[in-house]
Amino acid sequence: MSKYDYDLIIIGSGPSGRAAAIQAGKLKRKVLVVDRRDRLGGVSVHTGTIPSKTLRETVLNLSGWRERSFYGRSYRVKDQIRAEDLKARLHMTLDYEVDVLEHQFNRNHVETMDGVARFVGPHEIEVTADAGDTTRLTAAKFLIATGTKTYRPDYVPFNGKTIVDGDEFLEMAEIPRSLCVIGAGVIGVEYATMFSALDVRVTLIEPRETFLDFIDKTLIQEFTHQIRENGVDLRLGSAVEKIEDAGKHVEITMANGRHVRAEMLLFAAGRMGNTSSLNLEAVGIETDHRNRISVDRKTYQTSVPHIYATGDVIGHPSLASTSMQQGRVAACHALETPTLPESPWFPYGIYSVPEISTCGMSEEELQERGIPYEVGVARFRETSRGHIMGLEHGMLKMLFSLKTRRVLGVQIVGEGATELIHIAQAVLNLKGTVDYFVQNTFNYPTLAEAYKIAGLDAFNRMPIPDEFKVRKSDTPEPAKLAPKKAKQA
Ligand SMILES: Cc1cc2nc3c(=O)[nH]c(=O)nc-3n(C[C@H](O)[C@H](O)[C@H](O)COP(=O)(O)OP(=O)(O)OC[C@H]3O[C@@H](n4cnc5c(N)ncnc54)[C@H](O)[C@@H]3O)c2cc1C
Repeated sequence: MSKYDYDLIIIGSGPSGRAAAIQAGKLKRKVLVVDRRDRLGGVSVHTGTIPSKTLRETVLNLSGWRERSFYGRSYRVKDQIRAEDLKARLHMTLDYEVDVLEHQFNRNHVETMDGVARFVGPHEIEVTADAGDTTRLTAAKFLIATGTKTYRPDYVPFNGKTIVDGDEFLEMAEIPRSLCVIGAGVIGVEYATMFSALDVRVTLIEPRETFLDFIDKTLIQEFTHQIRENGVDLRLGSAVEKIEDAGKHVEITMANGRHVRAEMLLFAAGRMGNTSSLNLEAVGIETDHRNRISVDRKTYQTSVPHIYATGDVIGHPSLASTSMQQGRVAACHALETPTLPESPWFPYGIYSVPEISTCGMSEEELQERGIPYEVGVARFRETSRGHIMGLEHGMLKMLFSLKTRRVLGVQIVGEGATELIHIAQAVLNLKGTVDYFVQNTFNYPTLAEAYKIAGLDAFNRMPIPDEFKVRKSDTPEPAKLAPKKAKQA
């Protein structure tokens, strides 16, 4: 009989907390998840991954975006798209996600408690419910999976209506005719390009000269060209000096003297670790300048070994996908259950219009590391499926080691990129080579055929290994063939 109330208490029910809880439930341990009732599922379900991807799907469907190359730029499935049209599907998806989560918790005997948790001792937390009543609980192990909240600097006059952060954006009452997005990170780029597909006049401002630096430069060039062609006014190297709420519009003044006027401003320049409510001083865990916790990246233990932290609260890569994986690994370690080590390469997915997805190293990274490589490129319009779908853009780029022939990185921009990337991820993690793409047959017509084309593109420029060279003994002797040919003639 344990001296604690629980084997594991998880603070936060986002992707990380959820995966950890289900894993603990499967191991038949006593586990509790604490979160606010109205936040069950975390940022991912309420304001992040799921709502933004639902919005993207709704925008692309209602605007008829995917059909415009056939029927013209003015083609629409629905003429007057309103904020309610976008929100209707959003709320349906959200309710469904929360329902699935509750069902999973029930099935795996995961207990939940509504409220906000704070540490009061190394093995004890206090949970404050919405109504204000408190409960104290103990556990052998804890997992902090509290995620992040939006960064709201003082110089931005947020009003929740026309000047909003990423969490408030989806609650807009009306679709603005013009939108200014500050911050060309993943979230800023996704929303800017989605609203541009709705024919909203979008200005995307980024103080730095470059954006999405972890992506291969060739891809970013292609992407920049496409979003500009789609109408996004991308302004790089533009530091914001002043933001004014002028009632019916927002006035943005840049350090270079230029102005932008828009009906709505989305400030999407970063997020902060959600740790201020946790009273981490009580357990001696420190946070960095963005309120994030550092951990051992193999076990996810904090500086206090029985307290773990996973997901966005530990920083990079801050994805729902990686958060889930971390949560599961941490739960296994905390509950002393062996598990497989994580694979080195995971994919990044950016659900902009067009999509971007990458796995492995970029060309710039290979150059920095001095690794000799060959490149294979395929354009989606070269595939029959791309042609059928009317895709004018989209490309897949693969990088191979000249020494080992292994796949080192894959970068895709265009329709279906976030799904297609998993072929590359499998080949990368299974240490496959360029030869895989040459030797294997791909379904036809598919966009996946782009792998074959890019593989052949690189293969044809790479030295042929000795074992592939046709040996003399494999070739029929010309002398033996000659009489047969002569007979036919
Ligand atoms: C707009 C947007 C789009 C995104 N799109 C994608 C995408 O396409 N793909 C992808 O992989 N990732 C995406 N992400 C990132 C993804 O949402 C996060 O990586 C993921 O939600 C992080 O999960 P988490 O478990 O760390 O915490 P979160 O999902 O942030 O959840 C943390 C939970 O902890 C709770 N909590 C905080 N403090 C306390 C406390 N003291 N007591 C109790 N509970 C507490 C909060 O209420 C919250 O419910 C997106 C994010 C945003 C904002």
